[in-house]
Amino acid sequence: MTDVRVRFAPSPTGPLHMGGVRTALYNWLFARAHGGTFILRIEDTDQGRFVEGAEAYIEEALAWCGLSPDEGVRPGGEFGPYRQSERSAMYREAVQELLDKGLAYEAFDTPEELDALRKAAEPDVFQYDAATRGQLRNSLTLGAEEVAALKASGAPYAVRFKTPDAAEEVRFEDAIRGSVGFQSSVLDDKVLMKADGLPTYHLANVVDDHHMRISHVIRGEEWLPSAPLHVLLYRAFGWDHPVFAHLPLILKPTGNGKLSKRDGDAGGFPVFPTNWTDPKSGDTWPGYREQGYAPEAFVNMLLMLGWNPGDERELFTAEEAAKEFSLERVVKSGARFNPDKAKWFQEQHLRNAGSEAHVNALGGLAQAKGVSWDAAQCKDVLDMMLERVAFLPEILDTGWLTAAPTEFNAKLVRKKWKDETSGYLNDLAQVLEGVAEFTSENVEAEFKDFLEARELGFGQVLLPFRIALTGEGGGPSMFDFAAFLGKEETLARLAQGIEVVEAIRAAGE
Ligand code: GLU
Repeated sequence: MTDVRVRFAPSPTGPLHMGGVRTALYNWLFARAHGGTFILRIEDTDQGRFVEGAEAYIEEALAWCGLSPDEGVRPGGEFGPYRQSERSAMYREAVQELLDKGLAYEAFDTPEELDALRKAAEPDVFQYDAATRGQLRNSLTLGAEEVAALKASGAPYAVRFKTPDAAEEVRFEDAIRGSVGFQSSVLDDKVLMKADGLPTYHLANVVDDHHMRISHVIRGEEWLPSAPLHVLLYRAFGWDHPVFAHLPLILKPTGNGKLSKRDGDAGGFPVFPTNWTDPKSGDTWPGYREQGYAPEAFVNMLLMLGWNPGDERELFTAEEAAKEFSLERVVKSGARFNPDKAKWFQEQHLRNAGSEAHVNALGGLAQAKGVSWDAAQCKDVLDMMLERVAFLPEILDTGWLTAAPTEFNAKLVRKKWKDETSGYLNDLAQVLEGVAEFTSENVEAEFKDFLEARELGFGQVLLPFRIALTGEGGGPSMFDFAAFLGKEETLARLAQGIEVVEAIRAAGE
């Protein structure tokens, strides 16, 4: 394969939707898989839709996902500038080339004239194209003198692409969809340069992809209808076009239609990588980062929305995925987003990273809540709790980890706590009092000896022991937890637990 150079080319018109992040990810993976270059190009020629802060948001969100570009506004590179607003001279030159070749023309029709044509055509749709341009006010129909006079008088005009006169089938190979064909007669004569002298998306995109030596254009399916025009533009310039690959849409959880911002609001899940505050309204939209997702989990979830390794595996780091990524394994049909699955990826990544990886983060979260756990305590807590949560902060929400329980599951108490239970626990407390080294193993051994000596079953004592220490019926190993609490606190909780539970039982009678 020739040098692989791919680009992610967002317009800074707002935050990056997770579909956009997936496009960036697939480009990044493709570059990594082929030892290529990943470029970030900012397509900011549409001044009307420019949103303050959007470019910085895009860069920060990509950095959080670990998808920083090799070339772009920040890292620089030899094919810059990487903001389209700084490349105007190149677009002017390109447009002039097409005008000189007779493959583009100047159109003087005013917005009012075009509106009138649209109205007159209703209910049909008026199109400025090979069939109509011969009757309109452009440099193909007006004489050279008139064109010169109009220009001299400062009349505004747009430059339009001259689609082929004779209808033909425009065909190209899409790396995901296979051979794709369009009839050129359905294409209109798209504006390449607007009256304000700024290029449109189509012109700037093609000119930049050529000059930046882009080998593969990997982008969302919504750009598929533009691809034939782009193929014709490359031909008009006499350039080879890059390989096109149009990614499937990300669908709503119901599978009906494209996932939107509103679906996130309705379903209570973010559609943006990080929080976004609209600079005009001040409204903030939630992001995966702020909801506690690990970037690795978010990226893994996006990876599997449209790609698969050909077998059942689902858990990948970006580096692992880069070794296997290929466009052939990207699906053609829409990929349905499932918020529960997103959470599942988070759980898996949290666990698979192991306790050690989270010690510092948990220490920070604890400190913020006024709990001072040292590194060893954080590790113990993580060993007990990592399997039981999806997000680290949930650990600190588990009240009994940091203080004796104040709430007891009364229903459980009534069902499981018998008249003799408190007596068993008091006796157990005495046994535990004598344990010199209060480790999990020693507590467990003493506990088992106690059961054996008293001919009691595990269930008769272990669940009440758990209720006394935590107030709840489920959780980590109570031997681990007792060792974490230490002898003094374990015995204090046992005594207090028995007291509160007896009060609950008395009240229930
Ligand atoms: N600026 C376009 C966008 O916002 C880029 C499309 C493309 O990749 O060609 O999606």
